[in-house]
Amino acid sequence: VYILGIETSCDETAAAIVKNGTEIVSNVVASQIESHKRFGGVVPEVASRHHVEQITMVLEETFQQADMTAEEMDAITVTEGPGLVGALLVGVNTAKALAFAKHKPLIGVHHIAGHIYANRLVKEFHFPLLALVVSGGHTELIVMHEHGSFEVIGETRDDAAGEAYDKVARTLKLPYPGGPQMDRLAAEGAANIDFPKAWLEEGSYDFSFSGLKSSVINTLHNAVQRKETLKDADVAASFQASVVEVLSEKTYRAAQQYDVKQVIVAGGVAANKGLRTALNNKFDDAKQELLIPPLELCTDNAAMIAAAGTVAYQQGHRAGWDLNANPSLDLERYGNRGSAR
Ligand code: ATP
Ligand code: MG
Ligand code: FE
Repeated sequence: VYILGIETSCDETAAAIVKNGTEIVSNVVASQIESHKRFGGVVPEVASRHHVEQITMVLEETFQQADMTAEEMDAITVTEGPGLVGALLVGVNTAKALAFAKHKPLIGVHHIAGHIYANRLVKEFHFPLLALVVSGGHTELIVMHEHGSFEVIGETRDDAAGEAYDKVARTLKLPYPGGPQMDRLAAEGAANIDFPKAWLEEGSYDFSFSGLKSSVINTLHNAVQRKETLKDADVAASFQASVVEVLSEKTYRAAQQYDVKQVIVAGGVAANKGLRTALNNKFDDAKQELLIPPLELCTDNAAMIAAAGTVAYQQGHRAGWDLNANPSLDLERYGNRGSAR
C-alpha cells in the first residue's frame, strides 16, 4: 500500500510517500522558520502564503524522489486539524484537487495522530502503548489499545511544553524557535536554580507549565533589580530540569499503571536532549520498550501523516468532498469516528 501524505498545519510545508504504513519512500519538508524569525513566532497569514507558494514544488519533489506518480498512490491523506485554519486549508484543498483529478480516496488525518505514528516508521507498535506527546501546541499522555484509537489520560491545563520553551527562550532573547536554542544552552549550564515542578493532584497525569514560566520570568526580573547576574545557561538548565523531571516521571508512572508494552515519545519537544536522556534512564530497567523517533521525525513532517493515514485507509475511513480544515479537531473523537464518513 502506497499512501501520499500532505501536511500544512503550521509552519512546514510537507509531503511524503509511505509504504505499508511503516516505510518512508520519500519525505520532503520545506520549512518557513527563516521567514517567521524576524517576527519572533509564526504569523498565520505569512504561513498560509508560504504554503501556497511551496506546495506544488514540494509535491513534485516528493514524487520525483520516490520515482512514482500520483496514479500509483492508493490514497491521498492530509492533515485536517488541529492547526492554523488558513494553513490547513492549503493542504486540504491540494489533497482534494489531487484526489479528485486522479480518482483516489481522500482521507483526513489528525495532526497529533500523525506525531504518534511517526514512531511506527521506526518500529512496529505493540498494544497497549503509552504515547507522550510534547509539541508546540500539545502536551498529552495518550493510551492506545489498538490502531487508530486514542484515550487521553492527561493533558496540559495551560501552556504546552514547547510553548513554555519558546516563551522562556524569548525572555532570554534567544531567536525563534526557542526550544532547540534552550536545549543547546541547557547543556552548557548547571541546574542550580530551584524552579517549581507542577505535580498537581495525587495520581493526576495532567501538566501545567505556566507557573514555571512565570517563576523563570520573575527570577530574571528580580536578578536585574538586585543587580545580580544569572547565567543564561544556568537558567536554561534549571528550567529544563523542571520540565523534564515532571514529563519523564508522569510518563513512567502512567506506563506502570496502564501496564503498557511500549512507551513512545512524539512531537517537536521529543527532540530535546535532556528529555531523551531522562526517559532513557527511567526506562532503562523497565519492562516497557521505549521508542523515540529520530530528530527529523519529531518535528512536523508528512511521513507521519501518511503513516497515520495508512491505518485510517486500512480501517476504511474515507472523507467526502466536503472535507474541511478543522483547527480544533478532537483526537479521541477522531479515533472514534465511524468508518462511513
Ligand atoms: P502541534 O504539533 O502541537 O500542532 P507544532 O506542530 O508547532 O505544534 P512541533 O512542530 O511538533 O509543534 O514542535 C515544535 C515545538 O518543539 C516548538 O515549540 C519548538 O520550540 C519545540 N522544540 C523543537 N526542538 C526542541 C528541543 N530540542 N528542545 C525543546 N523544544 C524543542
Ligand atoms: Mg512546526
Ligand atoms: Fe506538530
